[in-house]
Amino acid sequence: MKLAFDNSFHDTMVGFYAPAHAAQPLAPKLLAFNHALAAWLKINIVGASDEAIARIFSGQKLPDGANPLAFAYAGHQFGHFSPQLGDGRALLLGEIVAPDGARFDIQLKGSGPTPFSRNGDGKAAIGPVLREYLVSEAMAAMGVPTTRSLAAVATGDRVQRERAHPGAVLTRVASSHIRVGTFQFFAAHYGADHVIRLSDYSINRHFPDLADAANPHLALLDRVIGLQCGLVAHWLGVGFIHGVMNTDNVAISGETLDYGPCAFMDRFAVNTVFSSIDVNGRYAYGRQPQIMHWNMARFAEALLPAIHAVDPADVEQAKAIVAAVPERFREAWFARMRAKLGLVVSDEADADLFDGLFDALERHSVDFTSFFRALAMLLRGDDAPLSALLPRRDGMASWIDNWRKRIDLAKVDLMERAAAMDAVNPLYIPRNHLVEAALEAAEAGDMGPWRDLLEVVRHPFESRDDWEVYAQPAPETFGPYTTFCGT
Ligand code: AMP
Ligand code: MG
Repeated sequence: MKLAFDNSFHDTMVGFYAPAHAAQPLAPKLLAFNHALAAWLKINIVGASDEAIARIFSGQKLPDGANPLAFAYAGHQFGHFSPQLGDGRALLLGEIVAPDGARFDIQLKGSGPTPFSRNGDGKAAIGPVLREYLVSEAMAAMGVPTTRSLAAVATGDRVQRERAHPGAVLTRVASSHIRVGTFQFFAAHYGADHVIRLSDYSINRHFPDLADAANPHLALLDRVIGLQCGLVAHWLGVGFIHGVMNTDNVAISGETLDYGPCAFMDRFAVNTVFSSIDVNGRYAYGRQPQIMHWNMARFAEALLPAIHAVDPADVEQAKAIVAAVPERFREAWFARMRAKLGLVVSDEADADLFDGLFDALERHSVDFTSFFRALAMLLRGDDAPLSALLPRRDGMASWIDNWRKRIDLAKVDLMERAAAMDAVNPLYIPRNHLVEAALEAAEAGDMGPWRDLLEVVRHPFESRDDWEVYAQPAPETFGPYTTFCGT
């Protein structure tokens, strides 16, 4: 097997990471391999056995050209600053440049302790590994910016959590693993020089067009905020709750990073929280835009020494950019909502229309995902799916009327509108009850349900008759649902 590594972070950012090594797994066994992603990354596995693939993506055998390292980072966790976090259970093997020139980190997650592990074991259990694999691939298929999953390998070891679980390693592919927390670490411990170097590296890697800006660090802040606004709007649009929006889990690339206690909402409720540790609902569904704003303020603080070094007057600019986050988010969110509702042009009544919708969805406990597909069916002249969702047939009659008026006003072809809605409103998401059942089976040695579910969520928008059961909300007997942190 050949991976064409080109390790820019390792080679040019000495002092920003700690060299590290994977622990030896007892008996690696391949659970899943993402052939399409491997092909895209030009990872040549022709002739490689599953055993050989498992050895590499469990950390047993270091591939040629790898320079394994752990990233240093800090972060605000639930609002409190932890000056020293870092990759405690992750190991960067190296970077690969895809045919289109895009650069990707190839990282093992769960391959044993690093210099940043503190009291942790650096290991990962099979459940969370397969959960991240599944959910990240589902997000990618929905078009949500995200890290990807290349491989899942069982290690043959037992990992002790609240009880012992089979261990596993996830291979994560990311545009980079530079986080808000990475900037915070170097701002807190090293000062302006290091922040400038990290910012320059980030710009060069992710946003080379910003290098010529009058103040590139200010431009970086602006760009990252734009990406985060788009990302969180996308999350809300598919009912996704990240669960741990700590600043160490916010990638400056704008990709969804670190799938821990994340989950998708079934019935709409703006305060939905799944994470067992989020007792105050800090990261509830509807709070995600505010938290993103808060995280971007922390990013601005970390970048300030660099921004100031170019021009002290730009500090005021940075403040203004952060202050404008709610407005910018609203724009991204409204655009997404219009697409979901099949609306072509914006209107000053949009805010009322959307508020009214969320009120009604919550009042009637409507399944968020099914609802938008049912609306499209209504445009096709079939009101059965919507009626089936609403306990009282006329429950949302006035809202539906208003929405239909907006659609009709645009004088567009209804079939075309319905198709456009179906292209942005997923039919198949990783439903919590199905994810749990798949993970339970996998832990007991049967990968079948997990593979089937993965195949379904890789095609979120196209309706298939034999996938009917995957579109259904959880049965009444399921829940309340709780998710747990930690891989
Ligand atoms: P997370 O909640 O996944 O964002 O992780 C927060 C921090 O805890 C990161 O620095 C992780 O590397 C570290 N961490 C989480 N689990 C472990 C573990 N099992 N062993 C070592 N470090 C860990
Ligand atoms: Mg994390």
